Amino acid sequence: MSQDVYFRKDCRMCCSTKLEKVMELIPTPPGNNFIKKLPLEEPEVSFPLDLYFCSDCYHLQLGHVVSPKILYQTDYTYLTATSAYFVRHLTKYAESMVNKFSLSKGMKVADIGSNDGTCLRQFKNLGLEVIGVDPATSIAIEATKNGIETVPDFFSFSLAVGLKEKYGSVDFITSHNACAHIDQLDDVFKGVSHWLNDNGVFVLEVGYFVDVYTQLYFDTIYHEHCDFHTVSPFVKMFERTGLELIAVERIAPQGGSIRVMAQKKGGPHKVESSVSEMINLEKDLKFNLAETFSDFADKINDIGNRLKTIITDLKAKSFSIAAYGAPTKATTLLNKFGIGGESIDFIVEDNLLKQGLYMPLSHIPIVPTEEMYKRKPDYVLILAWNFAEPIMEIHKQYFESGGHFILPLPEPKIV
Ligand SMILES: [Zn+2]
Repeated sequence: MSQDVYFRKDCRMCCSTKLEKVMELIPTPPGNNFIKKLPLEEPEVSFPLDLYFCSDCYHLQLGHVVSPKILYQTDYTYLTATSAYFVRHLTKYAESMVNKFSLSKGMKVADIGSNDGTCLRQFKNLGLEVIGVDPATSIAIEATKNGIETVPDFFSFSLAVGLKEKYGSVDFITSHNACAHIDQLDDVFKGVSHWLNDNGVFVLEVGYFVDVYTQLYFDTIYHEHCDFHTVSPFVKMFERTGLELIAVERIAPQGGSIRVMAQKKGGPHKVESSVSEMINLEKDLKFNLAETFSDFADKINDIGNRLKTIITDLKAKSFSIAAYGAPTKATTLLNKFGIGGESIDFIVEDNLLKQGLYMPLSHIPIVPTEEMYKRKPDYVLILAWNFAEPIMEIHKQYFESGGHFILPLPEPKIV
């Protein structure tokens, strides 16, 4: 157990030990550790899932850090290229970065967590030289075969030293949705700072906690995300790793993200007004106060109680209830709200890889979506609730044949 998880006593962004617990979720196994076969040969291990606030830099992070060995043991190999939406996002991204930072032909671009090389391919198409780094060995080898040279390793300061020797310094480093998953984040940033040349720029994209907070996406709090980022804490973090925050932009992916732009300390770019605007926005939301997040936790508890009442009432009237969608965050939601196999008969899921498996902890079976029409549950709780509109649109037929949907968030209600 001890190598599997540890409690982080200091802030990942500023090293302060002034951390305060602001939200307590229910300890769960990692949300992606679906069960292949029941009964279990070995008992499941649950890990605490509590959110801590740093009163020095206002960063939010999970107290307990679960080893990547435990988190990523199942191989749901996500490939960027399979999401048409994200490919379009990255194409536009590459064009806008080339323009904004005057990247010209022959300059070098690196990507940390480059996955199948989709992002770098866009830069390559624009005439730049590219190099990827990704720890998923098979994906890295495949990307290299397809023309995007990818180093199959975890990015770190020591790796950056070797990369700089081998490839020379780079002009631009990019990273998409990797920074919330990295425990030794300052080592990564020091590596970035080392590898960039003096005029170099580092741009990362990561989920934005302001969107989690305003849209109640609390179920994105699960063990794979060790950080919940806002703009303010990046100022100190960049400073102590030899970088400087120069601009921020709010972007759409993942229900709301930020594009954070930095240069080497003393670089040629002026700090744009977007930096102070975003820091002020966070101040206006009182993101510098721990109470803000305890109040958020109370609000989520209240929503949970109301949803639980709806479900208990339906069960008391002997209605059958199924659920729709088994994303990673469904484990957080079900456990936080105390909803399990006693209420939910089965979960329908479009993803073939998840069909036939069981949910962690609750052991609710995951079945193909057609089962919704065969077994005709009276109610279907939408766990992938941020996609409720398109799901209800696609499954009008279920609705028209007398079924009802239950939305858990932002307001628990029956449709
Ligand atoms: Zn801090």
